[in-house]
Amino acid sequence: MPYLNITEVESAVASLASAYPGTAHLIPLPEPSIEGRDCHALQIGRASRIPKDCVMLIGGVHAREWGSCEILVHFAADLLEAFESGTGLGYGGTTFTAQQVQDLLIRLDLVVFPLVNPDGRLHSQTVDPMWRKNRNPANSGGSSNPDCIGIDINRNYDFLFDFTKAFAPTATPQVSTDPCDQQVYEGPSAFSEPETRNVRWLLDQFEGTRWFVDVHSYSEDMLYNWGDDENQSDDPDMNFQNPRYDGKRGLPGDTAYAEYIPKDDANTALDLATAFCQGVQGVRGAAYKPLTGFHLYPTSGTSDDYVFSRHFVDPAQGKVLGFTVEWGKKFHPLWAEMEKIVLDVDAGLVQFCLST
Ligand SMILES: [Zn+2]
Repeated sequence: MPYLNITEVESAVASLASAYPGTAHLIPLPEPSIEGRDCHALQIGRASRIPKDCVMLIGGVHAREWGSCEILVHFAADLLEAFESGTGLGYGGTTFTAQQVQDLLIRLDLVVFPLVNPDGRLHSQTVDPMWRKNRNPANSGGSSNPDCIGIDINRNYDFLFDFTKAFAPTATPQVSTDPCDQQVYEGPSAFSEPETRNVRWLLDQFEGTRWFVDVHSYSEDMLYNWGDDENQSDDPDMNFQNPRYDGKRGLPGDTAYAEYIPKDDANTALDLATAFCQGVQGVRGAAYKPLTGFHLYPTSGTSDDYVFSRHFVDPAQGKVLGFTVEWGKKFHPLWAEMEKIVLDVDAGLVQFCLST
């Protein structure tokens, strides 16, 4: 099988840390997965005495979106090899100079966590290819229905978690309180899952994080904040924390609610999403689109909105712009096509990092 299995993803991460000890460090995540698997991330960058800004990239959250792990493993390997050998990087028609690679890893820390949900990936690769959630059986209520296992990690973050209260009755956020929902069960409470808590731990550890990218598939988009409603930059009081707007969120094209984003942040988020798409397009012409998350479909509890919300909930937290890559046009492209998608997306991610 050309796609990496979960053992191979983990050993690739460990091998990069041991091959480039001066530039890459292995980060053991504090919590094992539901089925007891250890998880690891990589910190990549030239060591520095002054705190550095950080780009955090995660993948392998949704089990069936196999290529996300390969995208992040290759992204880390490409940058480390080019940095240590003093060369540039070429992805088809998108190229980066040796100087750009050096500047990137001197200026920034990159934290790369390619496999957030190992139990789900194993299940998807061996039992049910379309499996999406983690493998937590705790909420199955003893049901023999296999759909009643698992929680959608990317609905389990603490952002408008109580969506039945937050959203308008006629809104259709892609999330469910039903433990037997096969796709988007949010879990019994925000951060109920160890896989979700591991990502929060990384954010807490790397206080210099300013940009966060969650790699998913599919639809050839680069999503940026927000995902619960359309953006507006005129009324700071109209925001996700304000209970006055409960029951009004999540409807397109109305004036009752739109989510507040400071104008500068909106501009920066669009610029970075556009830079990503341009990096992708240069490789072989794939036309990815920058969109707010809401324009894919309304959501609650996602990683990208959670990371951005932290600063508004607690201004002592640094501001983190959140992004979600939706690569490709299907979950399991033939490997020959997936290899090309890896090049597309990695070119976009390097361009994204250079543009921060
Ligand atoms: Zn996904």
